[in-house]
Amino acid sequence: AKADQLDKPLIFNASLGLEADARRALEADIEAGLDRDEFFVVYQPIARASDGSTASVEALLRWEHPTRGAVPPDVFIPVAENSKLIRRLGDFVVRSVCEEIGAGASHTVSINLSPAQLNDARLCEHYLREIHAHGMTAEAIEFELTEAVLIDDFEQAKARLVELHDAGFKVNLDDFGTGFASVGYLHMLPFSKIKIDKTFVQTIGRGEGANKMLQALALLGDALSLDMVAEGVETEGQAAMLRLLGFEYLQGWHFGHPLPASQLKTRKRNHAA
Ligand code: C2E
Ligand code: CA
Ligand code: CA
Ligand code: CA
Repeated sequence: AKADQLDKPLIFNASLGLEADARRALEADIEAGLDRDEFFVVYQPIARASDGSTASVEALLRWEHPTRGAVPPDVFIPVAENSKLIRRLGDFVVRSVCEEIGAGASHTVSINLSPAQLNDARLCEHYLREIHAHGMTAEAIEFELTEAVLIDDFEQAKARLVELHDAGFKVNLDDFGTGFASVGYLHMLPFSKIKIDKTFVQTIGRGEGANKMLQALALLGDALSLDMVAEGVETEGQAAMLRLLGFEYLQGWHFGHPLPASQLKTRKRNHAA
């Protein structure tokens, strides 16, 4: 039930409206929270559309504040992005993945990267060292990046993405279709997968126009030879439609909620279509 509460869309980017004072207070709280071990990572399965088996698990950051309660990432990530804290949070997630999933998993781990993290010229080197120290290889990690990463400095972002890709990490485009960017840059970047936002999935069954939109996205994936991932899949009806349209990967409560690593039951091929 806790996981559900954190997914209310009304808090989306709520922190952007915070007053400077509230923002500074939250920053100080994030820093203290890191020192007090209030952060943890949950993992949500990303299933192969073909048979429902787990291809990857997405690492999602959680913050349980002693008095604020569960603070959703949509609130604290944007605040952290405006300070050096995003780096500490990002490092915390990678370290947690290394310690909690580690080498030998039968699936990859998908990790969200903030655009701000790409300003760090040593990001790739730094994460490679960390995962190697835990006996993991780059091939076990997929990074998810939104197109916001391309706005500031396209050439710098491209260089960083190529670096990650060449090191063996997979790089996937997250929240495709919710931003302002065009599809024109897609073929210039080393993406492996395109993940569409859950708002698209929620339109399934709401008229023919919605399905045509999803169909167009699936065809775009075909044209670029990129695998398509849909998130926010909550019902078998949605899953069936997305399979029909040619989506390769499905993620959402229908396939599993985000859970701490200790509670994660990696599904084998028991969820066939
Ligand atoms: P996102 O990357 O688009 O993640 C998908 C969100 O959808 C997650 O929200 C997930 O819990 C939620 N979700 C999963 N399945 C379903 C479903 O079937 N129905 C519905 N309604 N929702 C579902 P969450 O965990 O609150 O994360 C929100 C956003 O915060 C993420 O969006 C991501 O942008 C950011 N975030 C989370 N963890 C991290 C992190 O470690 N680093 C960075 N940079 N950003 C993170
Ligand atoms: Ca994501
Ligand atoms: Ca999303
Ligand atoms: Ca496809």
